Amino acid sequence: MSSAFNPADCLLLVVDDVPNNLKVVGNILAREGYVMTYAINGQQALERLEASTPDLILLDLMMPGMSGIEVCRTIKANPNQVELPIIFLTASQEQKHLVEAFEAGAIDYVVKPFQAPELLARVKTHLKLKHTTDQLRQALSEVEKLACIDPLTNTFNRRRLFQLAEQELLRTQRYGSPLSVMMLDVDHFKAVNDTYGHLAGDWVLKEVAETTRRQLRSTDFLGRYGGEEFAVILTETDGFKAVEVGERIRSKLESLAVVAEGHAIKVTVSIGVGSYMAQTDDIDQIIKRADLALYHSKNSGRNACSIFAENACELYRRSNRDEDVANFEDEFEVTSQR
Ligand code: GH3
Ligand code: MG
Ligand code: MG
Repeated sequence: MSSAFNPADCLLLVVDDVPNNLKVVGNILAREGYVMTYAINGQQALERLEASTPDLILLDLMMPGMSGIEVCRTIKANPNQVELPIIFLTASQEQKHLVEAFEAGAIDYVVKPFQAPELLARVKTHLKLKHTTDQLRQALSEVEKLACIDPLTNTFNRRRLFQLAEQELLRTQRYGSPLSVMMLDVDHFKAVNDTYGHLAGDWVLKEVAETTRRQLRSTDFLGRYGGEEFAVILTETDGFKAVEVGERIRSKLESLAVVAEGHAIKVTVSIGVGSYMAQTDDIDQIIKRADLALYHSKNSGRNACSIFAENACELYRRSNRDEDVANFEDEFEVTSQR
């Protein structure tokens, strides 16, 4: 991933209203191997930025029309360009403007008339710094991804899923929005491995994750909770709605055949739903409800979706369905039809 600094990889934009200045600066830098582009006023500089992405700008401070400082402010106001290093070219009598230039986002300045080695040294320093920063940022985003994503299924890992759940719980506690968690476990998965091999098992897990993801909204979070067990955080979703989603996932997976290692493999899943109930709930409690409902699905024959009964009762009560509440004798309700 890391690559050495090479001037030929760097595009430099020089902005100056005096054509001879462009020529002098351009010649010095082009001799070093930098790739050059030019603009003779602020407007043209901004147009260049729309058409290309320079790695650094050398910007004349005093220009008729749009001043260098205005150009700099405009560039720095654009989130995509905020990191772009800008070096001001100033005449010695303009130095009183330097504070303003730095406030506008400049990284450095060179006083005209300048010596070639000084210009080259400053340009190189800032380009190298940018090069290193870019590489670090890229490395960081790869590390962050590794720290959050399960590589086999490309879903969130357990650690990240918990962080997201905590965030969502805070939102729920503050705004009173509903929140549900769904636990999903592949049925008799050990037999898949035993019959078709571990690689085929891996394919099945990938497909289960992908099929599940397709039934979710972009605001839901799907993660791998452990081996062949997944969890979904359903934001702004009460238990009824979550059961509908769970039932949809269950039935999609039931009709899926995963082609792997020359076999068409059929699997089913058991699902449990738990929801937020009270201000004092923590994430572990909500997951516990989903987990208990999942075990209920398993115990009632698998390929089923269940909800923690207190969650269901609470919802029935709220919608004045007292007769449904009265029907609850068990701790759980199996909601799906197999
Ligand atoms: P149940 O219906 O009760 O859930 O039965 P099960 O066989 O699915 O459950 P069990 O917990 O007995 O077995 C889970 C199996 O999942 C055992 C383990 O080797 C396998 N497994 C866990 N992670 C992976 C993985 O990443 N890839 C593959 N291929 N198998 C895995
Ligand atoms: Mg299982
Ligand atoms: Mg399991």
